[in-house]
Amino acid sequence: MVLALTLACLGLLYVSANHYLSNNDTEQTSTNDQLTASDSNSNEAIPNSLVNSISNGKKNEQKRQEIENTANVILPEVENSVEFRTNKPLSTQKKMVVEESTPAVISADGSRYIPYHRVVHLDLKGAPPKLSYLKELLPLVREAGATAILMEYEDMFPFWGTLRNISAKNAYSQRDVQNLQKWAMQNDLIVIPLVQTFGHMEFVLKLDEFKDLREVPIYPQSICPSQDRSWTIIQEMIDQVLSLHPDAAWLHIGCDEVYQLGQCPICSQKLLTANTDPNNSNGYQDGRSLFLQHVHRVASYVKNQKNVIPIIWDDMLRTIPAHILQDSKLGEVVEPMVWVYVEDVDRFVDSLTWANYGEVFSHIWAASAYKGAFGERLYAVNVQRHVGNNLAWLEVMRRETLSTSKLSFRGLVLTGWSRYDHFAVLCELLPIAMHSLILNLVIITSGAHDYEASKRAHRLLQCNGQKSLFTPQELRRNPQQWDAHRCRFSGSGLLGLLSSYNMNRHEVETSLEHISEKDGWMSKYNIEHKYSSPWRVHESMKTVAYLPGALKTLEQQMAKSLGQFYDQFTVEEWLEQHIQPLEERVGGLMKMARDLTERIVWPRRPLGAPAGASPELSQIHSGGDNSEDPLNQMPR
Ligand SMILES: [Zn+2]
Repeated sequence: MVLALTLACLGLLYVSANHYLSNNDTEQTSTNDQLTASDSNSNEAIPNSLVNSISNGKKNEQKRQEIENTANVILPEVENSVEFRTNKPLSTQKKMVVEESTPAVISADGSRYIPYHRVVHLDLKGAPPKLSYLKELLPLVREAGATAILMEYEDMFPFWGTLRNISAKNAYSQRDVQNLQKWAMQNDLIVIPLVQTFGHMEFVLKLDEFKDLREVPIYPQSICPSQDRSWTIIQEMIDQVLSLHPDAAWLHIGCDEVYQLGQCPICSQKLLTANTDPNNSNGYQDGRSLFLQHVHRVASYVKNQKNVIPIIWDDMLRTIPAHILQDSKLGEVVEPMVWVYVEDVDRFVDSLTWANYGEVFSHIWAASAYKGAFGERLYAVNVQRHVGNNLAWLEVMRRETLSTSKLSFRGLVLTGWSRYDHFAVLCELLPIAMHSLILNLVIITSGAHDYEASKRAHRLLQCNGQKSLFTPQELRRNPQQWDAHRCRFSGSGLLGLLSSYNMNRHEVETSLEHISEKDGWMSKYNIEHKYSSPWRVHESMKTVAYLPGALKTLEQQMAKSLGQFYDQFTVEEWLEQHIQPLEERVGGLMKMARDLTERIVWPRRPLGAPAGASPELSQIHSGGDNSEDPLNQMPR
């Protein structure tokens, strides 16, 4: 089976690489047409000139057989041209076989790149979507082109035993986790679980029982890698997560943003001892050394003891020189996931980094974003910017795959962050990011944001009867694409309410700005002296009088709609974060207006100092004896 899959994948890669290298388009196009036609279910929008590389699941078994037959014929040439993509086969003890080579599809003219795996990241931390919603979501993302889901449970995983308090009180149950995998499997989606094992361990280290494991006592973020108990806890977390994911081929072990390193007494002593040891042949040791050692230890445990391939976020590796990365032997145990969420990927990962990664790692992943990347407190998704980010990644992956013989991308992960870390508030919610997720999935599955991709997203999101919403021109006009609320995907109703919220919020901000900055009857002076025209105040307030009632209604509608997707705790958090501050601001404005209009008689001017002001003010204007005041020395 491994051989068959390897041959199949090599065959596909050969098709792609040979196309690019030989420019022999005529013959290959006919092969591509054949393959595309045989897979009409999931590849309706993929141009005929592209080969689909989805090779998971039973429905592609026939296609695999066809490719295998072809691969047998062309194998000798394959070995010469694409040997760099191969590695020693993994153990076959696991139920799921990891394709040794995961070649992307590149169009005949080299212009389009389609990642082999298209992964949807579900970030559950502190805000678990209802299982019923996730069940509904999986067929849709599969149809849009996803091949896998990356499950970031954080405190939503049902840890047990000594780890039970790590789980939130509203965490999923073991049955929930099993059901999720069952539904994923039914939709031919691979499940890649994620568990943090170094940085971003706030959900563990915030607790009293684990606080002694912090690298820096006041920051519950990074775990100290030098304590025996840290290792015990990490092993136990991995054991529990994998025991509920017995079919997992990959485990993401996090390791991003480890900002506290080598600072605790044990770690700093360890570094001091190493650096003062005359027999130390490993060179100068610092925080990076501790990072590489710990990641290697955790990854080796996952790979050797669990027979699962560990993945790590790459950000901590970017600044480590190639020779140090080589010496760490990290390349033998992990596959890094390179993440950049903005449109200019090259600004964050330069050519030297790509060259280093190519030398060190046999396989690599890329990560873009479909939500949760452009502001910690954003509530609406900027679809246009996420499309820009994904298109940038396709171009970088295409360029790096064609220009170097060393880099082999496993696929592209669409991340969808729910919070920037455990303690942060919620950013954009999953149901209202559905148009971004589906459009971006379709784009990376067809290799371009063309008319066909826009049309396919339009159809998958059930926007029938609407004008074209997802073309580049439409997104330029309306980056959030609020009009998608008229579609009929699950979440479109919530998007409609969010659109109302957006308008109300804008109204509140505009009114407050006008009243406090421009209006001549409700300024700070008017308020402090309780001195204004009641008619003018009433006129100003006419435009905002509807807001308290509108916000109350919106709050009720939002609560109901959010309740379809989230439990009551997440619903309450969102309302507290978004609606209640608006209500408070409007409430403050109403009180101000009441205070300004309760007088029926007013004092003669001058009004004198407001309560608590300095008495000297009145002396200056009464012309009192103050010869030193410069105002008195000016000509009158
Ligand atoms: Zn330490």
